[in-house]
Amino acid sequence: MAILLTGSARAQVVTHPLDPEGLAASRAGWSAIQAGHAQEAAQHFQAAITHDPDVSTYHLGAGVAAFQLGQRAAARGFLEAALRLDPGLTPASVLLGQILYRQGDLEGAVQVYADALTRAPGDKMLTEHLDAWRKEAALHEDFQRSMSTNFTILFEGPAEQPLAQKALEALEAAYWRIGGALGTYPSDVITVVLYTEQQFQDVTRSPGWAAGLYDGRIKVPVQGALDHPAEFERVLAHELTHAFVYSLATRGVPQWLNEGLAGVFERTDLTWARDIVKDARTLVPLDRLHGDFSGFSPDEARLVYAEGALAARYLLDQAGPAPVVSLLMDLNNGVGFETAFNQRILIPYRDFAANWAAQAR
Ligand SMILES: [Zn+2]
Repeated sequence: MAILLTGSARAQVVTHPLDPEGLAASRAGWSAIQAGHAQEAAQHFQAAITHDPDVSTYHLGAGVAAFQLGQRAAARGFLEAALRLDPGLTPASVLLGQILYRQGDLEGAVQVYADALTRAPGDKMLTEHLDAWRKEAALHEDFQRSMSTNFTILFEGPAEQPLAQKALEALEAAYWRIGGALGTYPSDVITVVLYTEQQFQDVTRSPGWAAGLYDGRIKVPVQGALDHPAEFERVLAHELTHAFVYSLATRGVPQWLNEGLAGVFERTDLTWARDIVKDARTLVPLDRLHGDFSGFSPDEARLVYAEGALAARYLLDQAGPAPVVSLLMDLNNGVGFETAFNQRILIPYRDFAANWAAQAR
């Protein structure tokens, strides 16, 4: 989900002259944000806040930097502080709402956007998200919950209880399997929503070939799931891998790597991917698989998912899991993909991209 911050320089009425050093630190902070240097930005905004604690946009900047560093709790604190100082600071509301939504606090997200809209009536972005979230919240009102240490599962009614129980067991097993393989575990409780197929389309507007979705919550269509338990478990493990990846990197992850890791951990065996790649006349080069897959036809999608899975498997085998985790954390910190890849995996990305394909065919 892309987050657009607009108008961050909107003037706030502050009743005293701004401290020039604070102002300079804030300018340096926004430049660092623009350049993708979140760590540096965080330091500048911290300095700006020390000079002038009651300027809302300094807290906004600190919130943006913390968000980019994956420090969601800290980001939330800064953004709430910004909104206490200036409740009409729309960019702070926009980001805070997205963070709450991502943390599974749908009601909180709705509240933040509803408040923001009273101060910026007609804002298109706020209106669209609020409509979608309200629709989702209305649907969830009738849903029931099952919980474990690591998961909250939302499902429609008593009829889905056995399915929710199965999902919970499968997710717990996958959680320890994936976490054990990567040597890392997400710290937040993960929300999983089990939808009937029609609801799933309504809420996610995802292309017909997508079996599940992760957008801060795992969303899985469940029609017929009990008749196909292996397929159901596979989809859950796939989406859970996305939750693991997101807990390490909220940005900068090439789609082949994100989908590839999900492909690796969705089941134990990659024969399906090897067969697809062997049968393909040509492969799509990895550097053309950094963006969204949603534009692919069903056949192309099968191929690029298979490529991603084999490339990710090859990466884990060549480098080991710890460097791959470090790579993801670098991406979260704003390091460019090739730079991060070269310094963590110790193989030039170009060579890797050629080698994985050669050994897969
Ligand atoms: Zn996926």
